[in-house]
Amino acid sequence: MLFQNEEEGRLVSPDFNNESDHETELTLRPKTLDEYIGQVKIKENLKIFIDAAVKRGEALDHVLLYGPPGLGKTTLAGVIANEMNVQIRITSGPAIEKPGDLAALLTNLNEGDILFIDEIHRLSRSVEEVLYPAMEDFSLDIIIGKGPSARSIRLDLPHFTLIGATTRAGQLTAPLRDRFGCVFRLELYTPEELGTIVRRSAGILGIAVDEEGAMEIASRSRGTPRIANRLLKRARDFAEVMGEGIITEKEARRALSRLEIDEYGLDSIDRRLLLTMIQNYNGGPVGLETIAAAIGEEAVTIEDVYEPYLMQIGFLSRTPRGRMVTNAAYRYFDLPVPGQQTLL
Ligand code: ADP
Repeated sequence: MLFQNEEEGRLVSPDFNNESDHETELTLRPKTLDEYIGQVKIKENLKIFIDAAVKRGEALDHVLLYGPPGLGKTTLAGVIANEMNVQIRITSGPAIEKPGDLAALLTNLNEGDILFIDEIHRLSRSVEEVLYPAMEDFSLDIIIGKGPSARSIRLDLPHFTLIGATTRAGQLTAPLRDRFGCVFRLELYTPEELGTIVRRSAGILGIAVDEEGAMEIASRSRGTPRIANRLLKRARDFAEVMGEGIITEKEARRALSRLEIDEYGLDSIDRRLLLTMIQNYNGGPVGLETIAAAIGEEAVTIEDVYEPYLMQIGFLSRTPRGRMVTNAAYRYFDLPVPGQQTLL
């Protein structure tokens, strides 16, 4: 079957689908701030902070990047390392199991290096506690020995920069959040920005795509570069096998409709989510957990992956009493908007 079914992973999921995705990501990652498309405000501020740090010959202050998956947090960390001309070590919250793992990472850094911790909200408490003095005083307190003979020694660390990435800034403990000097929230990309990303990626991968074809893919990529790159590759397959090899608007449309992604970038799960809210809960307000149980998805996935985009296109809103479907979503399904008279 052409369409990857839900069990195999969503095509429009911003997470990695397979190994080949991962390989392409490495080749497609921009290396400099100039190559990094969109996120203009973040880039402007970063440029100043980087220039200032370089001028002073110091490490950059610790940076927290947050926002939905696939928006370019890891990429941006790599760009910062490149612009600062320092090494970057990449790890993730769940991979650092014990305080000793973190100590090993930190003591191997050189002056000015960057430690990138993805999913930093998943660090354990005991690891987090080692991180505090490391971030603040560039020192590590280590307990040697056990019982009455145990003693604590303090190790000096190189001045490093911690870049933390998370999809959920709200889940970070306050003491950890407060230790980041720069906090940046990444926004979903506009179709124009994604169009530029699609053309850039097509250039690197040697894929033929025209202006309209690129925009068609861009406008259905849920504001997310990772999805745009993935849809570009799938559209190439269709264009090569069923078309003339170049992704035109018509080819892009054909591919996307085969992949069951509609002109808004919505797939079957988005539609099920909205329809369930409309049909079972009168459009809301309905609680996140209730929606999750009703459609059989994890609440965190709904919050991190589906909702940001549904809110961006104005189909869903969050209220203190729960989630609500908007009138625009009723219109999308050709359903009468509640409380509005239909004109005859
Ligand atoms: P995150 O860490 O937020 O999940 P990544 O940094 O892994 O996201 O980005 C996913 C892919 O999207 C990267 O491989 C890169 O090719 C592309 N990408 C992300 N942001 C940009 C950008 N601003 N400009 C160009 N390509 C980007």
